[in-house]
Amino acid sequence: EKVLVGNKISEGHENFVMAYNMLTGIRVAVSRCSGIMKKLNDEDFKSTKKLSFNMDGSELTPSSKYDFKFKDYCPEVFRELRNMFGLDPADYLVSITGKYILSELGSPGKSGSFFYYSRDYRFIIKTIHHSEHKQLRRILKDYYNHVKENPNTLISQFYGLHRVKMPFLTGSKKIHFIVMNNLFPPHRDIHLKYDLKGSTWGRTTKINSNKEDLSSLTLKDLNFLERNDSIKFGPNKKSLFFKQLESDVKLLKKINVMDYSLLLGIHDVKKGNNSNFEKLSVFDPKSSDKFELIKTNPRDIDRENDLPTNVYPGRSKYVFYGHDGGIRSTNELNEPLNEIYYLGIIDCLTNYSTKKKLETFWRSLGHQRSTISALPANEYGDRFLKFIKDGTSKVKQKIN
Ligand code: ATP
Ligand code: CA
Ligand code: CA
Repeated sequence: EKVLVGNKISEGHENFVMAYNMLTGIRVAVSRCSGIMKKLNDEDFKSTKKLSFNMDGSELTPSSKYDFKFKDYCPEVFRELRNMFGLDPADYLVSITGKYILSELGSPGKSGSFFYYSRDYRFIIKTIHHSEHKQLRRILKDYYNHVKENPNTLISQFYGLHRVKMPFLTGSKKIHFIVMNNLFPPHRDIHLKYDLKGSTWGRTTKINSNKEDLSSLTLKDLNFLERNDSIKFGPNKKSLFFKQLESDVKLLKKINVMDYSLLLGIHDVKKGNNSNFEKLSVFDPKSSDKFELIKTNPRDIDRENDLPTNVYPGRSKYVFYGHDGGIRSTNELNEPLNEIYYLGIIDCLTNYSTKKKLETFWRSLGHQRSTISALPANEYGDRFLKFIKDGTSKVKQKIN
């Protein structure tokens, strides 16, 4: 099996047992949670389910190669969230646990979290810190209501929150993890990638030479300014985009988080794809009501009409999910341009905690306040919003 990104985890890999247990736990927990959906109540936002796995198996669990304990948090809420995000339950299970293959991206951030892709690259499993886990549980109701009122939210789509505990291998350490959407399409090259926070303090990725392959780097705020890049949206998409951003940032302020970023992947239609991908569409909604929902999604508005047929000659013009969840850039007349954006707000479980308060204090002694990364949620949100808005369609920015 070809692995596009990361390292395939197979037996013998140091994290194989953990990955295997994560997937086994998800498979059993998710398939158990399949009765008739009822209206959620307050209890659902607190409930947890524990499963114990071992060689012998039990009434609730099949026999497993390894001994471990699995905890599923608020299963009914996440089931409802997956439904709202248009995931088919059977698809979800097959994608994540159909074959025990994950690829590990290692730990791309500074936090020490590990990232795993599902076999088909649609989903990402991220191990999270205990404080992030607590934060997600605390805000789950607000998040749920937000998604309900904002079906097109740009905030990470959370599909599950789980924990594994293995007796020997990790010193009985509990590992929390989330399942979320991979913002980037499995079947399309991302030519340029930005992680934007609205902070300029240390927010640069060193580019070693002119010839360096930029697609392998994640560029940051200062790179964005220096390269004079922008998100090119004509009036129609810009207004949809801003409205959604404002609503999302309002929630992020309310739940008191900061340190999140806009992850922006740019596919250049003219460059097309290097790799020869067989399949274009990754997502095929099953029911007609989901079709209606998806039609209102600004990410997919173009899907039906402006798929770049020149890039995929011979393909019928109508391809569902034409951009695999991306948004096509447009000019001032709302006509399509050559870039497709894959974007979303990621890493939004960092509470403005004591630690961050300290960081703000120390840094504010030596640095201009508006350039520091750790700010209270309100200030962080305002600065974030301003940076992204200024960076959308040709507003000239100064580096401060
Ligand atoms: P830190 O706290 O140091 O920023 P982290 O471990 O919390 O790091 P994230 O900021 O969540 O990590 O993500 C690190 C990188 O992983 C991102 O810059 C991006 O390249 C990739 N990544 C994270 N989430 C997604 C996603 N949903 N889709 C695609 N790529 C992602
Ligand atoms: Ca981050
Ligand atoms: Ca983080």
